[in-house]
Amino acid sequence: MRIGIIGAMDEEIALYLEAMGEPAQTVKAGITYYEGQYEGQTVVLCKSGVGKVNASVCTQILIDTFQVDKVIFTGVAGAVNPELTIGDIVVSTDCVQHDVDVTPLGFAPGQIPYTEKWVWEADAELIQLATDAAKAITDEIQVVHGRILSGDQFVASREKVQWFYEQFGAACTEMEGAAVGQVCSMNGIPFVVVRSMSDKADGSAHVNFLEFTKLASQRSFAMVQNMLRALSTGAGTAATAAPSVIVYSAKGCIDCDLVKKALDAEGIAYEVRDVMSSPEHQEAVEKLGFMGIPVTVVGDKAVKGYQPEALKELLGLK
Ligand code: SAH
Repeated sequence: MRIGIIGAMDEEIALYLEAMGEPAQTVKAGITYYEGQYEGQTVVLCKSGVGKVNASVCTQILIDTFQVDKVIFTGVAGAVNPELTIGDIVVSTDCVQHDVDVTPLGFAPGQIPYTEKWVWEADAELIQLATDAAKAITDEIQVVHGRILSGDQFVASREKVQWFYEQFGAACTEMEGAAVGQVCSMNGIPFVVVRSMSDKADGSAHVNFLEFTKLASQRSFAMVQNMLRALSTGAGTAATAAPSVIVYSAKGCIDCDLVKKALDAEGIAYEVRDVMSSPEHQEAVEKLGFMGIPVTVVGDKAVKGYQPEALKELLGLK
C-alpha cells in the first residue's frame, strides 16, 4: 500500500524524515516528496506549505504522480471546542472550509455554491486507526473525533472561535485539512486529518503556537507511526499491532538495506534507528553486545547482520 503523509510545516514532518532514513526525493511544483519504506509501508512524505492552495496542489500531486492509496494529514491546530486543551488530539470526522463565504447570495457559511458537497468526510477505517493509535501513545491527553475547519487565516480571536463552535460545531481550526479532504474526495481517495492542539485560537494563540508546536508535532508523529504499524499488520487497530521490530542501521550500509528489504518483503513494520545520527542508538547496539550494524531487535532478542534464516526465526516466521 502507498500512503501519502502531509504536514504543512518543517516541524510537522521533521521526525518522519529522520525515521525514513534515506528516502528518494522528487521536487514538483516547488514541493519536495520523500518516498521510502517506513513501518512496512511505502510512504510518500511531503511538506505542503501553509494554506489551502498549497495543500490542494500537494494532495493532487500525491495522487497523480505518486499514486497514493490513502492520505494522512498530520499537524497542529487551534482548539475550538472549549473542552479541548493544548496537547489534545482531534481526529477528523469531516472537514469544512470556514472562509468560503457566499452568504450574500443566500448560501450557508462554508457552502461552496451550486454544489451539494462542501463537507468532506474522512474515511471510517482511517478514523478508527488514528483514534486507536492516538490513545496508545499516552493517556494524559484527550483524543476526540470532530469537525475540522480550514481557512487561509491564523485564527487568534475568542469571538471567531465562538462563532466557529456555534455555526459549524467544530472541534478545531487550521489552514489545510479541508483542502486535502476535498481533493481526496474528488479523487475517491480515503483520507484522515489528525491534529494536535498547539493553541486555543484565542488572544494567546500566537504565543502558545510557537511554544507547543514541537510537542504537538511529536505526538502527531508517534500516533501516525502507530497507525502505519497497524496498517502493516492488517490489524485495523493499534492495540493489536505486532511487537515492534527495531533495525539499528546507517546510511549506505548494504546489509542494513538487505535487512530492511527482507522485512518489507514480509510486510513487517519496523523502526529504523540510525546509529550515525544518534550516539544513544550507537550505545544501544553496544549494550546488546554488538560492534557493528545492522542489528535487528524484537523484544529481548537480536540478530546481527543480514542473516536470512536467523532473521526469520527472530521474527517468528519459521
Ligand atoms: N510557520 C509559521 C506560520 C504557521 S501558520 C510560523 O511559525 O509563524 C499556522 C499553521 O499551524 C498552519 O499550518 C495551520 O494549519 C496550523 N494552525 C495552528 N494553530 C492555528 C490557528 N489558531 N489558526 C489557524 N491555523 C492554525
